[in-house]
Amino acid sequence: MYLMNDRQRDVLSAVHDFVSNEIEPEANYRNHHGIFSDEIYRKLVQYHYHSLIIDRSYDGASLDLVSAMLILNRIAYSDASLAHLLETNNFGFYLPVQIFGTEQQKETYLLKAARSGEIGTIAFTEAEKTPSTVAVKCGNGYKINGSKTMVTCADIAKYALLYCKLDEQDAMFIIDLKSPGIAIGKNEHTMGLNSIHIADLTITDLELTEAELLSAPGKGQEIIKRSMEIMRISNAAVALGIAQRAFDEALSYAKLRRMDDTVTLFDMQAVKYELAVLKAELDMLHTETFNTAHLFDCRIDQQMLFSSITKYVVTEKAKEIVDKSFQYFGGSAYIKGTTIERSYRDIRIFTIIGGVSEMLKWSISRYL
Ligand SMILES: Cc1cc2nc3c(=O)[nH]c(=O)nc-3n(C[C@H](O)[C@H](O)[C@H](O)COP(=O)(O)OP(=O)(O)OC[C@H]3O[C@@H](n4cnc5c(N)ncnc54)[C@H](O)[C@@H]3O)c2cc1C
Repeated sequence: MYLMNDRQRDVLSAVHDFVSNEIEPEANYRNHHGIFSDEIYRKLVQYHYHSLIIDRSYDGASLDLVSAMLILNRIAYSDASLAHLLETNNFGFYLPVQIFGTEQQKETYLLKAARSGEIGTIAFTEAEKTPSTVAVKCGNGYKINGSKTMVTCADIAKYALLYCKLDEQDAMFIIDLKSPGIAIGKNEHTMGLNSIHIADLTITDLELTEAELLSAPGKGQEIIKRSMEIMRISNAAVALGIAQRAFDEALSYAKLRRMDDTVTLFDMQAVKYELAVLKAELDMLHTETFNTAHLFDCRIDQQMLFSSITKYVVTEKAKEIVDKSFQYFGGSAYIKGTTIERSYRDIRIFTIIGGVSEMLKWSISRYL
């Protein structure tokens, strides 16, 4: 178990109270019916949970990374959809703008956006592996054509980072999703994370100026890398929250479920021992996740190596823990609308987004 300092304990206590009162009560209902609650999102903004590690000068919470991950982990325990929205906004949009943006860009896309709680997302995935979204230099600006797929919160986000090819290089642009030239596709019916949505973008003759280019031509991959280094830890923190919840649900159920007049499921030694193993594994994943966040707070080298290891180990094991927890419920877990059924669906994507597990192995192998 990672040992928190007093400040981090206070942060956790505040988020725990907030989530218990505001997020937990209707979480299953919202997820089952695919409802995004703007009212809850506005409250998350009041707590600065949308700008966790952004500097105070840009209206961020200016937290250390351990505290940020504690918050996302606790929110994911009750509602992984909201946690995923927040990690995308925090580390997929706001953070790259803070690291790579000009003062003018930070004023518009960070300070003003954070103050009003505008959501930002990131668009790099394409249907085909060879990127086809192309920016062409056009007078003093650029013209962009192409398409992106599976963009988190494309329906409610105001801004996105858009990854493009530019001549022989790549580039990242900041786009306003309401601009003419951008068509947002229908919300997909996803397997999990149902209280937020993903959708495709079609970009046709989108005209942008130099002021909307983030950093410089040739910097696109570097921007994605810096975003992913942090996003991989947050994917781990969110997956861990889902697994912790599934385990707690299973433990409570096992203690109540009577197998006959004398014993509960939990009284059976095989069950009790396996639950003990799951508890031990969760403890180990907790240490791994928050220790890596702490190492980032200490500004270690080789950040991509450490975040890739953490994401790989935690998300793969969390998926296994949710699956085992699901099993204790028997057939009742298979009926839609319960928390355990939601955990089972929500966890599946975390070995895919932020880098599929196979790619993480490749990432780690480069340091061998
Ligand atoms: C809920 C959700 C939210 C998302 N949000 C966003 C978003 O906000 N922005 C965005 O741009 N995208 C987003 N995506 C897309 C997501 O990032 C991609 O699905 C993910 O990166 C995997 O890419 P892919 O689907 O093209 O799969 P591929 O890269 O084609 O991989 C498919 C499979 O091929 C194998 N494979 C891939 N690479 C390797 C390798 N190097 N070695 C061995 N085997 C390999 C693996 O088995 C892998 O699962 C989202 C997707 C979902 C479902």
